[in-house]
Amino acid sequence: MKKSDYQDMWVYIEHDGKAIHPVSLELCSEVRKLCDASGDKLAAVIVNDLPQEEVDKILEAGVEKLILVSGTGYETFSVDAYSHLFTVLCKKYMPSAVFVGGTIAGRDFAPRFACRLRTGCTSDATQLVYDEKTGDIEFVEPAVGGKMMAVITVPVLRPQVGTIRPGTFKYQPTWRRDCEVIRETVDFPLDQIRTKILSFTAEEFDDSLNIGDAEVVVCVGSGIKGSDSLPRYRKLASLLGGKVGCTRPVFDRGILPFKLVIGQSGVVVKPKLYIAFGVSGAVNHVTGITDSDKIVAVNKDPDAAIFHYCDYGIVGDMDEICDLMISRLEAGQAEAAI
Ligand SMILES: Cc1cc2nc3c(=O)[nH]c(=O)nc-3n(C[C@H](O)[C@H](O)[C@H](O)COP(=O)(O)OP(=O)(O)OC[C@H]3O[C@@H](n4cnc5c(N)ncnc54)[C@H](O)[C@@H]3O)c2cc1C
Repeated sequence: MKKSDYQDMWVYIEHDGKAIHPVSLELCSEVRKLCDASGDKLAAVIVNDLPQEEVDKILEAGVEKLILVSGTGYETFSVDAYSHLFTVLCKKYMPSAVFVGGTIAGRDFAPRFACRLRTGCTSDATQLVYDEKTGDIEFVEPAVGGKMMAVITVPVLRPQVGTIRPGTFKYQPTWRRDCEVIRETVDFPLDQIRTKILSFTAEEFDDSLNIGDAEVVVCVGSGIKGSDSLPRYRKLASLLGGKVGCTRPVFDRGILPFKLVIGQSGVVVKPKLYIAFGVSGAVNHVTGITDSDKIVAVNKDPDAAIFHYCDYGIVGDMDEICDLMISRLEAGQAEAAI
């Protein structure tokens, strides 16, 4: 295999027919930077129709090729059809890299088509770097419980396939480039789809669990004594117009649901204000908070690693400090009301 025979970096555009999943736009912006470094063209692969105003968002991320796919088998997501499609497209066009959002669908089909192409697939990188000496992409991510950063490459094979978690990167529109449009029809035989959707019930939407876009996040760590202590953190979050999040051990202890876990295996948050209560500052968690505008940390241990990452650090008992913040905020509100 000659690596130089493989060109262009692709982003799979996940959508529901109305809107693009944010992770696909985030990926377009980040992979644009890799293409600028490598000289590859950035291509977006869109399966089924998408409204023009959504396509415009992709073009504004600096995409230079649109691969528009139609055919049978893609009406609803099917791992059989999508794995087959990307195997066929990659064999035909030979991209250097293919990026897929780390959604339920993306995590399902990306490793499968990578396997069929006999190439490597990495998941959950938090940083992507183009190495101009080797021409490989470095997929960087915390490993060994966050004690080290692992650099994973696909040094011999192509394409380099990666799934990236939503929220890891930012969508940053740049300028539109000339864009080539390629139309492909790839039919997947419907009788070869091995799963049948018998019914569909949308998950009830609970906005308090949607912390990815919160402007203020009050994060409780394992320092919390138990569920009984939660109301004060909820109250603080509500006074600040924000939401409560947590570290993974807090989920493991059954105190808060998984959707509130922030970090490498949870959600990435980008609030204006992030306050950590009883959080040690493990890399696996910190990976999910580094885009916060201001970080405040409260910990009883003055040597806690979280103090290396924060703008303001408070050494003390988390419940006491939280109560103090609440009383100050309430006093401020009372004064303002007079
Ligand atoms: C592959 C992998 C992925 C992971 N992904 C994630 C992830 O996405 N998100 C995540 O959060 N973790 C993740 N982890 C776990 C991570 O490595 C840490 O174990 C975890 O983040 C630690 O959580 P913590 O800070 O709440 O707990 P601890 O490390 O136990 O820290 C508790 C802190 O609370 C302080 N404290 C205790 N009592 C009080 C008090 N009364 N007042 C003030 N401070 C107090 C202590 O001094 C301590 O610093 C992952 C681990 C692995 C291996």
